[in-house]
Amino acid sequence: MTERFAHVALPLPLFEPYSYRVPETIADRVVPGARVVVPVRRRELVGIVVATNAEAPAVAAREVLAAPDPEPVLSAALLRTAEWIAGYYGAPLGVTLRAMLPAPLWGESQLVLRATGHWSGRLGGLAEQLRDWVEEKQSVTLAAASRHFKRPLWEVADRLARVGAVELVLLPAGTEAGIAVERRVELGEERLTLVERDRTFARRPRQRRLYETLEQLGGSAPLGHLHKELGFTAAVVRGLVDSGLARTVELERSRDPFAGLAGTPPPERLTGEQQSVVEALASQLPATGSLLFGVTGSGKTLVYLEAVRRALDMGQGAIILVPEIGLTPQMVNRVRGMFGDAVAVLHSGLSDGERADAWRALRRGERKVAVGARSAIFAPVQQLGVIVVDEEHEASYKNGEAPRYHAREVALVRARLEAARYILGSATPSLESFARTAGGSTALLSLPRRIDDRPLPPVELIDLRSAPLIKTGHAVPWSEALESALFGVLSRREQAILLLNRRGYAAFLQCPECGLVPECPDCSVALTYHRVPPGMRCHYCGKHYPVPARCSNCGNAVQRVRGIGTQQLEELVAARCPGARLARMDLDTTSARWSHHRILEKIDRGEVDILLGTQMIAKGMDFPNVTLVGVVDADTALHLPDFRAAERTYQLLAQVAGRAGRGPKGGKVLVQTRSPEHPALAFAARHDTEGFLAHEARARKDPPYPPETSLVNVVLSAEQERQATDLAIEVAGWLEKLIASQNVPLTLLGPAPCPLTRIKKRWRWHVLLKGPVEELGRVVRYAAPRLEGRGKARVVLDRDPVSLL
Ligand code: ADP
Ligand code: ZN
Repeated sequence: MTERFAHVALPLPLFEPYSYRVPETIADRVVPGARVVVPVRRRELVGIVVATNAEAPAVAAREVLAAPDPEPVLSAALLRTAEWIAGYYGAPLGVTLRAMLPAPLWGESQLVLRATGHWSGRLGGLAEQLRDWVEEKQSVTLAAASRHFKRPLWEVADRLARVGAVELVLLPAGTEAGIAVERRVELGEERLTLVERDRTFARRPRQRRLYETLEQLGGSAPLGHLHKELGFTAAVVRGLVDSGLARTVELERSRDPFAGLAGTPPPERLTGEQQSVVEALASQLPATGSLLFGVTGSGKTLVYLEAVRRALDMGQGAIILVPEIGLTPQMVNRVRGMFGDAVAVLHSGLSDGERADAWRALRRGERKVAVGARSAIFAPVQQLGVIVVDEEHEASYKNGEAPRYHAREVALVRARLEAARYILGSATPSLESFARTAGGSTALLSLPRRIDDRPLPPVELIDLRSAPLIKTGHAVPWSEALESALFGVLSRREQAILLLNRRGYAAFLQCPECGLVPECPDCSVALTYHRVPPGMRCHYCGKHYPVPARCSNCGNAVQRVRGIGTQQLEELVAARCPGARLARMDLDTTSARWSHHRILEKIDRGEVDILLGTQMIAKGMDFPNVTLVGVVDADTALHLPDFRAAERTYQLLAQVAGRAGRGPKGGKVLVQTRSPEHPALAFAARHDTEGFLAHEARARKDPPYPPETSLVNVVLSAEQERQATDLAIEVAGWLEKLIASQNVPLTLLGPAPCPLTRIKKRWRWHVLLKGPVEELGRVVRYAAPRLEGRGKARVVLDRDPVSLL
């Protein structure tokens, strides 16, 4: 028998897997995708087998200790998805796998033995002793069992698990070895008469006592209660069960907080337009996908649900991704309304245990549809038939830490590997997805009209340079037009939404006369104004410019610094509309669990007149009584030093405008701006998404930005400013040499300070790499293991960044 070795990925930042010898007794379970317990220095860690072979590693290998999974936790397709992510984004495989699996399933875990209540056959010796001991304790760690029996028990435990006499479970360190399912003993339907009892239990008084105790307890009781509180031994319970008078049952303790909520029933019939989109989707080959480009309120959700239903009819499963589950309770309710208990909702409010439960239910095929935010793309849905990515343009699909994957891109890869279809949906598609439809790799399907042919609300731009303004004593711009529209809404007892995206971290300069914002001539992003020392700086290429004495466009001598210090809109609105009931929704007001739901419910019940907040109010809400949407300052996002600033602004305007006029009363949108001629605003005012996409695609050709080219943002940070700067210069030099020696057509920009110069006490610099996707990929794969981890300074490779702030 040749020796076998397993390569095991551990949840550590290691670019190479470790090798372990595989004991013959567990060899059949040590297969790719399976979890194993292995020694790492003085600890025991859970890792994932990524490969096995007969080649002995260079250093003497230690042994795999245990293999608790009868079936690998990760399917071959998910393992290959992980490998793709690790390669593409330059992340260690173990770290990637850690992001894919719920925390309780691995890491520094403890192996727990649980009673199963299946005691078929005699086992003999130590195995039987261990089984009985576990039966009494119900749940013990393997370590505790080893101490009790004073010897290692890996092999015995493994044998017991195989015959089903105990269950081997991995739990995260530090958690209670508690059980999510409750095992109960329950009597059969028929009760014995007293005569029958005397006969049946003649020599078994303790079983009779158990029988009668159960009877008094209403016919059933938790097994643990019988053992611990009432003192019945495992042998007594087993005797009663073996005689057929009782049975053990497992009841899952339901822990899903969404479980109690009733879903929203779906509309009865598809419209003709929805029907033809659904037919087009159904006619596609597996492993292909579509971009569903449908205006706000066009009924995209029902199309997704219908596509999912068809997959279920064919015995397949589905994943539905939403940007942030907390922000989309309406979507979740619709999915539940259609598929009920087939749905597992994966959301951030779940505890580790609940997440693991949902994961297992999907893995076992008990649930067929997973709904969740970006990490739900890893849900172990069986026979995956379709992946839906709703609001595919949303930046929250990008993971902010290693592995820095984009869930939409992972969806495409996973769909290909599992021969599933994908549907990307949006009213404002990303340039990346739209470009794919031109290339033909993704089909373009559209829903150009709202349900019932309701018109999209008229969007009116209020030019703050010329419109009559009200002096309020606040820095927030406040036009007469906006105020009178607001008063109108209040007098008609309708509702209004006011958006102020206060992400004003970077200050820019703007001419109050003509609205010009100075940009970097090389990078086409707004220059950032620095107070000390005074100057204008490009946060992409790092070049400095003097603060202009007058506007280069109109010659006006006064230049205004904008983008910082916007005062609380809430204060202003409260002062202007004293009788109105306000609700504010932003990160500060919604951090508590379910607080977001509570605000939305109040709006639904008509207890709020004006909702104000940041971009989170722009998403997915469907309130028919909202007849006015006001964008207080459209320019904050427009002049952020980011090449996506225009795209984001367009998306935000179109999405927030989509909240108005969803009911029969109609509605309108007012947008205050100093840049009404900016394409993002001009196209948004006309609801011309295609026009904007075409315009923006042209703008990204020169200088090239995605999707014209591909990007990696290399971010360097350290607590000492000097360290960050030095590292940035060193890494930029190293990358420059690498590019030159490999003779690859890549451009390097920087080093420059990041627009957000300091986050969490760390100074941040960055270097931008641009170029064709394959060449960039090669550089990432080469550089990632060589650049990361340099003591206190940190290097982060962010491939396909969604933000360069
Ligand atoms: P989108 O996601 O495209 O913005 P929704 O899916 O939220 O649009 O649909 C907008 C509204 O139209 C919802 O209130 C929805 O219930 C309703 N709706 C969708 N499809 C139909 C249909 N076939 N019949 C009647 N109402 C529908
Ligand atoms: Zn520049």
